[in-house]
Amino acid sequence: MVLGKESVSREPKAAKKHPAGEVGRVPVDESKIRSSGFGPGPWIPEFYEDVSFTCKDCGSHETWTATQQKWWYEVAGGLLDTTTAVRCRSCRAKERARKTEARRVHREGLAKKQKPNQRATDNGGAAPRRV
Ligand SMILES: [Zn+2]
Repeated sequence: MVLGKESVSREPKAAKKHPAGEVGRVPVDESKIRSSGFGPGPWIPEFYEDVSFTCKDCGSHETWTATQQKWWYEVAGGLLDTTTAVRCRSCRAKERARKTEARRVHREGLAKKQKPNQRATDNGGAAPRRV
């Protein structure tokens, strides 16, 4: 019997706005944290806290909220010691679309290559004439 694919809950839609000066904070569930396994192991904080970062694509100043971090590390399976936010939401959407498109083009390219090349017709039009 096949049960549906394990559903991964969606990324929280809108980041909650915090009153000015207040930093968002969400407790870390240590048992759900994964790391790449290299080195001495990640330092696991007690709380996620909002962090600001600059989008590497458009340079926009963004906040990666504690809630989003919790989702990323505990639900989506992001590695705590090697992954962090680099792109704003809209650039990530663009990047995803770009990758999807690239994969599609790649697959189509492979499909074309796998088609048998048309054989050069025997003798073609250049068959030597018997004299
Ligand atoms: Zn961006």
